[in-house]
Amino acid sequence: MGLKKEEKYIYKYEACWSDGNNPLLCLNTGDWRTSRPVINNEICNGCGICMTFCPPQCISIKDDYFLINLGFCKGCGICAKECPKKAITMTQEGDYADDCKI
Ligand code: SF4
Ligand code: SF4
Repeated sequence: MGLKKEEKYIYKYEACWSDGNNPLLCLNTGDWRTSRPVINNEICNGCGICMTFCPPQCISIKDDYFLINLGFCKGCGICAKECPKKAITMTQEGDYADDCKI
């Protein structure tokens, strides 16, 4: 059974062209990531190209800074590839293993 129009996009960070009916969009797909994008705000010029190209639309802007929702970022590296200022560096996810310690 199809969802009503207002129910279709179940997560605010997913793009309008994502399949909002797909249950995978409910998962914390950031767990799949092996590389983590890191934005250098000293270099970033605020063009927003990374936000436009990110397939799951998990880059947002807050207080003039671009933020990456790591809960959904897949680590594909497209944002880093498209950034005209080379302000995004893809880093090894293993470098953040300490983040998981309780
Ligand atoms: S594409 Fe690069 S320069 Fe443009 S907003 Fe994103 S990080 Fe900043
Ligand atoms: S690495 Fe891919 S999924 Fe993650 S923020 Fe960049 S474009 Fe989006």
